Amino acid sequence: MILPKVHRLPPEQVQEITEIVESFGCRIQPIVGAVRTIYAIVGDERDELMINRLEGLSYIERIDRIQSPFKLMDIRSDLSTHQITIGGVTLGKAPLFIAGQCTIDPKNPGFFYETAQAVKEAGAHVLRGGVWKPRTNPYAFQGDDKSLDILMEASRCTGLPVDTEVMDEDQLKLALDAGVPMLQVGARNALNYSLLRQIGAAVAGRKTIVLLKRSMHMGTLNEFISAAEYIANFGNPNVILCPRGTAPALDGYRNFPDESIVPLLKERTWAPLVVDPSHSVGKAAYVPACSLAALAYGADGLCIEAHVQPSKGIGDDPKQALTPEVLAETFRLGREIWKLRHPSSL
Ligand code: PEP
Ligand code: MN
Repeated sequence: MILPKVHRLPPEQVQEITEIVESFGCRIQPIVGAVRTIYAIVGDERDELMINRLEGLSYIERIDRIQSPFKLMDIRSDLSTHQITIGGVTLGKAPLFIAGQCTIDPKNPGFFYETAQAVKEAGAHVLRGGVWKPRTNPYAFQGDDKSLDILMEASRCTGLPVDTEVMDEDQLKLALDAGVPMLQVGARNALNYSLLRQIGAAVAGRKTIVLLKRSMHMGTLNEFISAAEYIANFGNPNVILCPRGTAPALDGYRNFPDESIVPLLKERTWAPLVVDPSHSVGKAAYVPACSLAALAYGADGLCIEAHVQPSKGIGDDPKQALTPEVLAETFRLGREIWKLRHPSSL
């Protein structure tokens, strides 16, 4: 829908917009109002270039799109009934709890094995553990291929499916070859379209689930959903969206907590939403409240960093990992909130 700056466009401008949309296979239908005439674009209006050309005209105020830019992840798409199941939980039917260490310490694997067992007992359905880490500081520990064996061993011992972040094609291949069922795309790579395409192509035809974090730079709703569309359009729509706080931070928090984005995303996409409160607030003391807020906003689950002895952890764990006791209590309260929101489901 084209909204002009003036009450009505003169014939030469109508001619100009008509030529633009016709070159993209659409036509113009003027809708004459008492105050203003607007111009409907009839046809497939999703082509970015057509919209850009129209928006570039000095006499156009704005273009309102009727059609969604997403073919697969849109709430009205044929995939809207698609169900994603992992760790015995079908997203949307019960809250999904992902928990574990930010970073696996290959020098102290014992901590990870203990954490794995402890998060299982606390009620986690999926075990997270960072094998390769995106670190702001190039001198900080970057992860280690050896940690992949530790992750898979912990999965075998506990029976929990695992989630780990991959940042490039080599890591993607190693993780898939090892049988990692959930791959994480981190906030720094949330808009790395080459990586999203590589992941989409690699998981096509598999049951693998992708946990796609929200870009930390205040990624818009459509930008976030479009990133999921990049993965899904290769054929595997098992994509879960994960808000994790945005920059700039709220003074005192690591990021700006963004769990309030959940109901807005749910109006546009059927994709399940699992909120990561750990990277959002960035301090263990604030994580439980942020977790409960996320579930109150309608999140389908949580991804929380936890460690048996946070102070002995590496990566983010000393600052933001919950102890197993606090994790268990957070899950317990989270289930109560879930029940209030879904009275018939539990
Ligand atoms: C993480 O999960 O440890 C992580 C680095 O997350 P993010 O990409 O959200 O910063
Ligand atoms: Mn972390």
